[in-house]
Amino acid sequence: MSPQTRESLFRALFPDEPAYRWKQVEQALFTPNAKGWEDVKTLPKAMRETLIDAMPWITCRAERMYRSHSDDTFKAVLIAADGKRFESVLMLNKRGQWTICVSSQIGCAMKCTFCATGAMGFKRSLTSDEIMDQYRFWQAHLRTQPSLATRISNVVFMGMGEPMTNYDNVKKAIHTWLEYTDIGPTRITVSTVGVIMQMEKLLTDDDWPPVRVAVSLHSANQQRREEIVPTTVPEFLKKLADWSHRYAKLKGNQRHHITYEYTLITGVNDTLELAHELGRYIRKTAASKINLIPYNPVAGKTFSRSSDQRIDAFKQILRDYGLDVTQRKTMGDDIAAACGQLITETPAETEAKDRGRIVLDMGRTDHA
Ligand code: SF4
Repeated sequence: MSPQTRESLFRALFPDEPAYRWKQVEQALFTPNAKGWEDVKTLPKAMRETLIDAMPWITCRAERMYRSHSDDTFKAVLIAADGKRFESVLMLNKRGQWTICVSSQIGCAMKCTFCATGAMGFKRSLTSDEIMDQYRFWQAHLRTQPSLATRISNVVFMGMGEPMTNYDNVKKAIHTWLEYTDIGPTRITVSTVGVIMQMEKLLTDDDWPPVRVAVSLHSANQQRREEIVPTTVPEFLKKLADWSHRYAKLKGNQRHHITYEYTLITGVNDTLELAHELGRYIRKTAASKINLIPYNPVAGKTFSRSSDQRIDAFKQILRDYGLDVTQRKTMGDDIAAACGQLITETPAETEAKDRGRIVLDMGRTDHA
């Protein structure tokens, strides 16, 4: 069962307070210099004192944190109020600001065969507070690091879990960021493995925020995709192409193209024949981009990353079809923070894997 949300706890604690009080509380959570309820002078003193005792300032704390050798990626293992662990990642982006890769669930029910999170199984969905607090956690962390840029400019839902199966909490967290931070809607990307039923809901939901959508495709061959993503529904590719045209008509514009993510795995989905199949398929979908992701190794999986030559050849075939193709830069794979590598382990297991890695103590800026 998910922990109680901040809003429901607040309403239970202060049932007679006017509606604007909750807005003040939400706003306070994003006040740059506030470190706790005692700093929120917009609230009456008695209320602050009750909140200090009854409502944690943030819903998660870091058990440990890792920093990549290239100093451009951090990964935090966070503990929720019920003791469950999940991971969140901070990456330097090409503008010299930060992108956070947030988790929407603990574990994942989608079971993608290459993914460490999928191998964990599904534990529970994160609350909207736990999702939005990943931004607050990283923002607080950056304020303690004088040598680093402080601005978080982008959010991607590419951490643990399938955001479309935690639709309402993901939507609530996005609305809160849009209201209280300087992150714009086109700087937020919700990445889904293709949960068609929920994607249909998005098309008719007037309250769905105008963020970007990415679909993890991994193969344009139905049978091969079922092998990689076992939860693939029958006729998925046909349904997705149809959805993409309706999405483009209703929500699409130059800034709202669909991105198809394609993880390249040696011998599984990186043959030149499959590149042609992908090229032909994408041309039948609405205006879109393809982002190729070199596979990131996961302990216990036998898959391996495609060679640079194969990736280049694959990319060239797609470009010959006139498609807009990018290749994702691999970041944080030395601290298992890259795409598909997120997993929570018991402290003992984590400790064993820590040897040889750079680990940060909370509140310190040097390497431990
Ligand atoms: S790749 Fe994404 S959708 Fe698939 S199992 Fe991993 S976390 Fe879930």
